[in-house]
Amino acid sequence: MGVIHLHRVSLEYPRTKTMALYNINLEVRRGEFVFLVGHSGAGKSSLLGLLLRRYHPSSGAVYVNGVDLRKLRGNRLALYRRKVGVVFQDHRLLADRTVQENLAFVLRVQGVPRREWEARITRILRTVGLVHKKRAFPYQLSVGEAQRVAVARALIGEPEVLLADEPTGNLDLENALGVLQLFKLAHAKGTTVIVATHAPELVRAYPQRVVRLKNGQLVADEHGGRSLR
Ligand code: ADP
Repeated sequence: MGVIHLHRVSLEYPRTKTMALYNINLEVRRGEFVFLVGHSGAGKSSLLGLLLRRYHPSSGAVYVNGVDLRKLRGNRLALYRRKVGVVFQDHRLLADRTVQENLAFVLRVQGVPRREWEARITRILRTVGLVHKKRAFPYQLSVGEAQRVAVARALIGEPEVLLADEPTGNLDLENALGVLQLFKLAHAKGTTVIVATHAPELVRAYPQRVVRLKNGQLVADEHGGRSLR
């Protein structure tokens, strides 16, 4: 999956007539790391929702590799979704499944042969430092550990794009930096990473491209303090 391109995208939530995004133009290249920042209500989740194809733009279009996301159906839509890993503020693990069962769930959905599951699960748990927790249930994990499992679940399918919506919102600084470290690893492997956050300490810890939204408008796009527009 190459370039993600939002072309003059606006989004209005029809039921409440809320304008969440206005005329957003944004291009994210393959392998980029982007922080999406702005106050609560600025439109960060809405923008991620467009990339997850949870919503369609009210006007404008979202293109991925030149293909309008609105036109993806059936198999091609399933394939697209498979290439996108997602992390939310809360871990959203299945409460009645162990860590390894939560991860196996993804592999089953993706049709990975069962004989590969154990190695894949061990490998990703090693990456997030939680091999010893593979038989634990979510309630037996600390908040930080559960969020690292959530990142493992997002990455186990080897997505080309990782989207995260306030992934450290429930974490103290130490755990937040632990999660950021996992995103850095994914980035180093070539994954495109987009992290919505209002935590300046994350941006400081990994100075990358920063796209700022304010009241639904894109008001700044900077890399290492240098403006891109
Ligand atoms: P952020 O992620 O930056 O906090 P959001 O994208 O969640 O911002 O919200 C942008 C605006 O859209 C806000 O005014 C919010 O109240 C509104 N909004 C978000 N989700 C919905 C929804 N499902 N229905 C109606 N309005 C929404």
